[in-house]
Amino acid sequence: MTSPRDATTDRPRLAVLGAGTMGHGIAQVAAMAGYETRLFDVLPEALEAARKQIESNLRKGIQRGKVTREESDRALEALSFTRYLSEAADGVQIVIEAVPERLDLKRKVLRRCAEAAAEGAMLATNTSSLSISRIAEGLPSPERVIGLHFFNPVHIMALVEIVRGVETSDETVAQARDVAERLGKTPIVIADSPGFASSRLGLALGLEAIRMVEEGVASPEDIDTAMVLGYRHPMGPLKLGDLVGLDVRLDIARYLYESLRSPIFEPPALLERMVAEGRLGRKSGRGFYRWDED
Ligand code: NAD
Repeated sequence: MTSPRDATTDRPRLAVLGAGTMGHGIAQVAAMAGYETRLFDVLPEALEAARKQIESNLRKGIQRGKVTREESDRALEALSFTRYLSEAADGVQIVIEAVPERLDLKRKVLRRCAEAAAEGAMLATNTSSLSISRIAEGLPSPERVIGLHFFNPVHIMALVEIVRGVETSDETVAQARDVAERLGKTPIVIADSPGFASSRLGLALGLEAIRMVEEGVASPEDIDTAMVLGYRHPMGPLKLGDLVGLDVRLDIARYLYESLRSPIFEPPALLERMVAEGRLGRKSGRGFYRWDED
């Protein structure tokens, strides 16, 4: 078995699977934290786009005085890109999967990593909605499987939700905590349940705000101002919904309503109507706000 540390640099090895929105960001923070980081994707163009995005993030970091040139150089040196999963996973201690949100795909890539990675390697998934226990089902070592839920953009957002499946071991939770902290994030640990902590609470507030608009309690602007000035939220729940995309919010509401069977998550008729009319928020130019000039 290959040593889990890189022989030439003595850096611990980490593989990120999927070089999209989340994968490139996770690879960036891992490389900056000193991991020998391998970023894997099936599409060469995704790897190329990830490399460009990471370089651009680092350049902006230098311009803003958040990153030194030496840190940027070291991070780029610690990063490698590959189209071969076996090459990415070979001998790594840590795997973080960020492939598309499909149970079969996540199981498939993690199974292949479980075989190629170092003994006792942590197999983390960045799923935003799938059950960790279900992803771990049928894998050779389900006790090593855990959720590491990052937020977008990864190099800026400080939170990581550590999600423990029914079979996840205490050692794996401790390892996940250590990795998250080393990546400069603040971890919270939660049980495997729909919406984890952040989506469940965030959506409860967002849907109630929509019901208040529906009932004519106040305007979207005034409801948002209530939370911004009254509770010091950086942004109101309706504006946030516009930014995330109201179609995305509706999908999550349906999923949570179905899985938690709580009326809190019943999709408000107004939300259904806005999505049906193509009022999706910023991406379509109109949601609760107008985004024309954007
Ligand atoms: P994305 O579509 O931007 O990226 C997915 C990448 O995976 C693509 O580059 C694609 O080429 C690659 N891919 C597809 N099949 C693959 C395979 N078999 N092996 C390796 N790579 C493969 O997706 P994303 O937004 O980065 O989401 C990835 C995961 O992170 C999902 O599970 C998602 O739910 C979760 N997540 C997303 C966000 C977000 O804000 N986008 C936030 C938290 C969690």
